[in-house]
Amino acid sequence: MDSLYSNPMSLIIGAVAATGVCMTAALTVGDTWLIIAASVVGAIALMRTGLVFAIHYLPRWNTRTLELMFEVGAFAFAASLSAVASIAVWGEVPYDAQMLLVVVAVSYATAIAARNAGSPFIALGQLLTVLVPLSIALVLSKSTLILVLGLATILHIPSVISITMKVNRSLRTSITEAETSERLARKMEVLAHTDVVTGLHNRAGLNEMLVTELMRCGPDQHLALFWMDLDRFKEVNDLLGHQIGDRVLSEVARRLRESLPDEAGIARFGGDEFVFFCSVRHREDCEALAARILQQIKRPMRLDGERLEIGSSVGIAMMPDDGIDADRLMQAADLALYHAKQGTRGGHRFFDPAMTRELASRREIEAELRQAIKRDELSLFFQPIVDLQTGRIKCFEALLRWFHPIKGELRPGEFIPVAEETGVIVTLGNWITRQAALACAQWPEDVSVAVNLSPLQIKAPGAVLAIESALREANLDPRRLELEVTESLFIEDSEQTAAFIDELSAKGVRFALDDFGTGYSSLSYIHKFPFSKIKVDRCFVSGDDVGPRAHAIIRAVAAMGRGLDMEIVAEGLEEQEQVETVRDAGCTLGQGYFFSRAVPDYLAAMLLAQDRDGDGLRAA
Ligand code: C2E
Ligand code: CA
Ligand code: CA
Repeated sequence: MDSLYSNPMSLIIGAVAATGVCMTAALTVGDTWLIIAASVVGAIALMRTGLVFAIHYLPRWNTRTLELMFEVGAFAFAASLSAVASIAVWGEVPYDAQMLLVVVAVSYATAIAARNAGSPFIALGQLLTVLVPLSIALVLSKSTLILVLGLATILHIPSVISITMKVNRSLRTSITEAETSERLARKMEVLAHTDVVTGLHNRAGLNEMLVTELMRCGPDQHLALFWMDLDRFKEVNDLLGHQIGDRVLSEVARRLRESLPDEAGIARFGGDEFVFFCSVRHREDCEALAARILQQIKRPMRLDGERLEIGSSVGIAMMPDDGIDADRLMQAADLALYHAKQGTRGGHRFFDPAMTRELASRREIEAELRQAIKRDELSLFFQPIVDLQTGRIKCFEALLRWFHPIKGELRPGEFIPVAEETGVIVTLGNWITRQAALACAQWPEDVSVAVNLSPLQIKAPGAVLAIESALREANLDPRRLELEVTESLFIEDSEQTAAFIDELSAKGVRFALDDFGTGYSSLSYIHKFPFSKIKVDRCFVSGDDVGPRAHAIIRAVAAMGRGLDMEIVAEGLEEQEQVETVRDAGCTLGQGYFFSRAVPDYLAAMLLAQDRDGDGLRAA
């Protein structure tokens, strides 16, 4: 249809030219029938021209009506033109007028067949409407030459038909090709915005959706943006393989689709993160929705006979309270998620402006920490670990301190996480081990040093070498170095960790399991790795929760230690009574303010001197 109505100019020129020629010839000849027929040509031409203009201004007509009107107009025009030429031939008007009108009719028929090739019915219909009556009129003429013209016109018909059909075919091919490439383009566009694993939108799709949705939102509409992260998804992937991992993601996607309102936008934001948004009336609605989703995701999944439970954390940002543009909202939700993950896992957190301030302070710490190393603001303190039977110092735990020129003393809790996040811990950790080894080399030979290691340090390339070179530099017997690791190191079953522990153990370095009782407290690590010490976390020793249950746990751990020939250290001993309790429970070593806080190296040396002179640090 488009090909028929496009280029209206050719239609108008045709109409004007044909009408002009017909009227001129008819008036010159002065034949009444010819004048009537020429007027009909003019009238139809006028109506068709009007129709072409109308199409541009009238509301969209449906294609069928347009086609019908075009057909009626086309056939009427063809018939009237044929009539003029046939009447001229039939009426035996002067030859020049006959020739003029025949030429107009034949060339119109030929031209129109090419022009309307998009619709063979109209093109060929018009061709035949003009040429069939005209050829009959020509063949029946008394003049032999006109008869020859008639025969030639008849021969002209099949050749024009064949050309028209050819044009039609190539038109169709190019339309089909155009449609195919448009379909492909549309498909590519969909693919570019879709996540292949879950069928949800991907990052690009989400951005587009979110921006569109935010533009559509009215001034008093609220939108909640959720950023969800699956807990320990990496373990699932590593332990059960990527295929199961992908199915977990698909299942999470399915549960999200089910739990969220139909109009919500849902996307997988790469890895195990999902972002979704929907409009909400109040914060409370949003809270209920978040709780429902967390609940749904937590429901056990059954995949290939494996029963899996996946927790998740969600950060929530609200439009307009936390931002009105996509970037702001995403940032806010991301920060809220970070905090949700810091807290007890499996929770949700709303964005709070304080989080931005905290982020700023973390960034500040990050920048300053790099400077601190250069400026010598860091130093190692040492806290004694004491034999509970003799009261003698067996070891010192190295604890890092930062003396900030403005903020004063900073505790590791404030900056070690930042150092871990930014990777600075690797350089920092190597420095700590070196300093600790150097300090220990100054102490009596039966006193060792314990250094805390971050998982990141152990996974860094050259981790073993760094420890060995610290020992070599200080000329310290490897058996005097103890490395404290926490269970978080074993969350992933990494060969690297095992190799690190095995290699250094073989050299004589000892390992202690720190903060025991706060994580998984799995016996399999204790069985698998050659720990020489287990440090029972101070929450079992001091604090509000300690009582008969905590004591029973300490007793059980101590009994295990005896059986496995491991030392059991009670951390956080602040009072005499606690010391007695853990000693009676079977712990062999103790550490805490009761004996001493962490002190600089020269004070550690004094503690040692005092210890060796008398009967131990604080005769228990
Ligand atoms: P941690 O390894 O469990 O270290 C023991 C923490 O308990 C130390 O806090 C110590 O000062 C504190 N403490 C000792 N006795 C008592 C007590 O009687 N009562 C109480 N309430 N606390 C006691 P600190 O020095 O703030 O270190 C906190 C954590 O930071 C450490 O926990 C350790 O995980 C990390 N950390 C400290 N120094 C380093 C380091 O050099 N490298 C690495 N990677 N982490 C470190
Ligand atoms: Ca420790
Ligand atoms: Ca500890």
